[in-house]
Amino acid sequence: MSIYLGIDIGGSGVKGALVDTTSGELTSDRWRIATPTPATVDAVLDVVSDIVAHFSWQGAIGCTFPGITIDGNILSAANMADAWVGVDLEAAIAKRVDVRACVLNDADAAAIAEAVFGAANGIAGTVLVLTFGTGIGSGMLRSGNLIPNLELGQLEFRGMTAEAYAAARLVEREDMRIDLWASRVNEYLQHVCDIFSPVRIVFGGGISRRFDEIAEFLDVSAEVVPAALLNNAGIVGAAYTASKMDRSEQHV
Ligand code: BGC
Repeated sequence: MSIYLGIDIGGSGVKGALVDTTSGELTSDRWRIATPTPATVDAVLDVVSDIVAHFSWQGAIGCTFPGITIDGNILSAANMADAWVGVDLEAAIAKRVDVRACVLNDADAAAIAEAVFGAANGIAGTVLVLTFGTGIGSGMLRSGNLIPNLELGQLEFRGMTAEAYAAARLVEREDMRIDLWASRVNEYLQHVCDIFSPVRIVFGGGISRRFDEIAEFLDVSAEVVPAALLNNAGIVGAAYTASKMDRSEQHV
């Protein structure tokens, strides 16, 4: 077993759990703290620090962020505070919490987890992992390799961003009927299929646990399957990525 702490920073909650990165299984309960409002850098770092303390964790951590993330630097933050743009989150965590952190986009982490342990495993063609929550996250895999920071939630669709049109927030927090929402999702998925011709779409985010209610409304040119890791994919992908970071450093 090789245990790492994975933390998933989301627009509504920050969740952490210990992960066996050889199996992708959680080895602890999830610990969730509501995302502070406003989601300022300091307030969210406090929450990350509380989660690390909750697990008495001193090793490296993997951490997701819901925005474009390159080498640990935050380049966009659609559902967080604007002040996040330009923050080196790996350095900020190291300074504030005193653990080594590996930071990546939340949907990219989910795509990695699904590729290694879940519904995208072993698929050679193009696979899109889409996460529906406060926003819409997207990770693209080609023969299991990730093309990071795709941002398909920010595509313009029906005169607005795709995530304004079809994020799960509409059902979870704005009381839209799930059948109406699922029809919107279907339109959006076909649009994405027209652009990328994926062989499979992995449908993720917390709402994927209701996939049975949604599936009957989905009829697009790719196979659509629910995420195998449900809403834990971000945590698992973050922990897995941290484990790789540690291993590569051991060989330097
Ligand atoms: C962000 C993405 C993120 C997605 C899901 C979007 O608003 O632009 O980077 O992956 O939300 O959290």
